[in-house]
Amino acid sequence: MSNTTEPKLPRPEIPRLDSIGDLLAYALALEVEATERYAELAELMATHNNRDVAESFRKMARVEQLHVDEIRKRIEQSRLTELPTAHFRWVGLTSGPESTDPADLHYLMTPRQALELALINEKRAHQYYDTIATSTTDPEVKALAAEFAEEEKEHVALVEAWMKKYPETEDDWDRDDDPPILQD
Ligand code: ZN
Repeated sequence: MSNTTEPKLPRPEIPRLDSIGDLLAYALALEVEATERYAELAELMATHNNRDVAESFRKMARVEQLHVDEIRKRIEQSRLTELPTAHFRWVGLTSGPESTDPADLHYLMTPRQALELALINEKRAHQYYDTIATSTTDPEVKALAAEFAEEEKEHVALVEAWMKKYPETEDDWDRDDDPPILQD
């Protein structure tokens, strides 16, 4: 495990990957992280009694778990014995409550903030695979990374659709229609 030296920036550090083994190792780290974070978000929203959002996050956790299973299967099938060590961490909300680890969830997080957090990280996942697809020299890596990137794009659209149901944050949070956390 690496220390807490990772930059607190939304942009992930994207390695250049030129083998399927590398890609699968990095993809597995990303998808495991997403699965765990969505399960946490679901639990958090359940404690807020927001069953709707909790159910949405549970659904996302299942979707990401399918990716984990699929990637594990591919690793088995390609009989890769040595995989590189790969890490991927979600980033937190820059405007949210302070915490030592940016990916730590705050128990006061509102459904809107939880969805914003999911959106940031889905966009980041898309950017991650997309950058790998465009920077690699291996055609097989390119094709698979592009496929993964496409799936993350669908997740972005899914979260954006859910966010339409929560246009405003709750009364006890600053009203801001254009929070400065989604930079493009
Ligand atoms: Zn995703």
